[in-house]
This record gives sequence, C-alpha cells and structure tokens, in this order.
Amino acid sequence: MNAIESKRIWLSSPHMGGTEQNYVQHAFDTNWVAPLGPNVNGFEKDIEGYLDEGVHVAALSSGTASLHLGLKLLGVTRDDEVLCQSMTFSASANPIVYLGATPIFVDSEAQTWNMCPNQLEIAIKDRLSKGKKPKAIIAVHLYGMPYNVDAIHKIASAYKIPVLEDSAEALGSRYHNINCGTFGEIAILSFNGNKIITTSGGGALVSKSKSFKEKAIFLATQARNDAPHYEHTEIGHNYRMSNIIAGIGRGQMEVLDAHVGNRRANFDFYKKNLGDSSEIKLLEEPEGYHSNRWLTCIETTSYNLREDIRLALANENIESRPLWKPMHRQPVFAECDAYLNGISDDLFDRGLCLPSGSNLEEEDLFRIVSVIKNILR
Ligand SMILES: *Cc1c(COP(=O)(O)O)cnc(C)c1O
Repeated sequence: MNAIESKRIWLSSPHMGGTEQNYVQHAFDTNWVAPLGPNVNGFEKDIEGYLDEGVHVAALSSGTASLHLGLKLLGVTRDDEVLCQSMTFSASANPIVYLGATPIFVDSEAQTWNMCPNQLEIAIKDRLSKGKKPKAIIAVHLYGMPYNVDAIHKIASAYKIPVLEDSAEALGSRYHNINCGTFGEIAILSFNGNKIITTSGGGALVSKSKSFKEKAIFLATQARNDAPHYEHTEIGHNYRMSNIIAGIGRGQMEVLDAHVGNRRANFDFYKKNLGDSSEIKLLEEPEGYHSNRWLTCIETTSYNLREDIRLALANENIESRPLWKPMHRQPVFAECDAYLNGISDDLFDRGLCLPSGSNLEEEDLFRIVSVIKNILR
C-alpha cells in the first residue's frame, strides 16, 4: 500500500460509544452548563458502582489535578519526600513538585514493569537512615498492567506510608478480581483523549474515605467555606469537572467493558501473529493479574531492532512510540535521587508501544503486523 494514500493508524484514539451526546444534550436542555450538575453526580455514581469496594469518587478536571489534590490530602507539603515509580508519564511526578516536595524515584520489576518491591524497601530504609521518612508512595499500573499490589502495599503498611495509586491507565484492570483504583489510600483515574475511556479531558480522585472525597471537592471548587459571602481559610483550586464533560463520561461508562474487550483482543491478535518470533516479547499477565491492555507493548532484542520497527511503521503512516522514558533519565528531574536496578533503562531502550485503540479494525491490525514481520528475520 502506498504510504501517502494509506489511512493514519493512531496509537490510541478517542472512541465514542454513541450515547454521549444524549447526556450532553440533556445538560444543555436543563441549562446545567457549569462545573456541577446531574451528569457530574451521575458520572461519579457510575464509577463508584463500577469500581465497587465501597469507594467514593470525586470527578475532577484531569488526572494530574487529581494527583495534585491526592498528595495534598495525604499531607504532602514543602520539603517532604515522595517515592514515585520512575517508569511512568511525567504527570505522575510533576504534582510532587507543585507542592514544593521532592520526588525520589524507584525502579521497576521485570514481571510487571511497575514499581519493584525490593527497590522500594531499599529506598525507604535509605531515606529513613538519612533522617527523613517518605510522606507517600506513588505506584502506577503502567499500560493497564497492575503493579504487584500485595508486595507494594505490604511494605507500605509495614512502614506506615500511604500509597497514592496512579490508575490513570488502568480503569477496567483487576488484581485478583479486585478493581485497580481501589487499593491506595487514594487512587486517581484519567479520562484524557488517549485513555481507555475519554471525556476529552478529565480525571477522578477515588478513595474509600468519604471525607477525602468531600475535601477533594472542597479544594477543587476554590475552598469556599460555608458562608453567604465568599470566605476562605485555605488556598483552593479550580479543578472540578464540568457537567458537559461529565455527560461524555456517562456515555463512555456504558462502553467501558466493550473497550477493554477490544483492547484485550488487540493484544491477542499481536500475540498470535508476533508471539512466535524470538526477537519480540509481549508482556504477559502473571497469575491473578487482569490488564485492560490499554496499550500493547513489545520488548525487542535490541535498540536497533526497536528503532527499525518504529521507523518502518512511521513510514507506513502508523504511529508507535518507545516506552515511557524513566523519570530518573529526564533532564527536569536530573537532581532527584533514584533507586535503580537497570530494568526501566533497559525497557526504555528496547520497548515499543503498538497501536492499541479500541476502534482499530482488523485490516489495521493486519497492516501493522505485516510491516513488523517484514523487519523480523
Ligand atoms: C495520563 C496519565 C496521567 C495524567 O492524567 P491527565 O488526565 O492527562 O492529567 C497520570 N499518570 C499516568 C500514568 C498517565 O498515563
């Protein structure tokens, strides 16, 4: 196929279910065009029902805003240290800096690509020996693969450090049949345009504590105290989700499970067509792990092979992307301490995210796989 004529295949593009516009229309019809209203409450209820485990959900303007408020609710403040998975998107770590605190990065384990429990414990002991107890741990379910919940939370509770669970990529993932987004003292979700469901932009803070939800909404709506005039005893934010946006979310919740099914089918297709190659490895689910397969990622045998595949796909108008560049390698975090085992560095060199949208067609998948197979020996 001619590259000029061939249709662009995206890594992960928005995929509307069809009923979103009804909810948005209802917001217009009832004039709830504001950062509150029935869609906001309904969307929160939808997520609470989906996640189960008695969680409370506050719908906010983004996953990043949710992380920012989550850290604040956990008491993170100036000069505190926060342990953060190094291999992640920068949005996991940036809110630490918004609060004047310092990120300390922790490397990944090979099994899930997420925070390594051994490195976490080494990091905690070392920080304690230096005289400072980390204020929180940010663990991430990268690409939808759950982190090792049992091991990470066992260490966290042994040292009495709260976990902020970054579940931005993992709505619909489960760990031993319990939904991701329900494990941390606080968890966050993202509904950005490339996520498993999207509201164009948006996020949520999740917690089993009802008072965390209430405090999050208070802080997200300019921290207005109860008074007829505007009275403030705290610095607030403008982080609440709008009722229009929440309407899109309500429609998207109706198709969440279908989206997870499509993305898992993408993984199965790649596995079936590329899994026999000795030059490519796909990330398998350990026993008891259920990934939403937000993105299907491959590990190649070398940096050069990864680049050959990436460039060949680009040449055919197919988007792919190296795995997240670890935060300890980012110039902006060059001064931060990190506890490393080499795994995230290696994954960054050899790993590639393949197109994984829930709206990919079978012919798209065949096109992608044939480009890759041409590169393999
Ligand atoms: C997308 C993402 C975020 C940020 O969410 P936004 O809604 O885009 O602000 C945070 N952490 C991870 C791991 C993400 O993938």
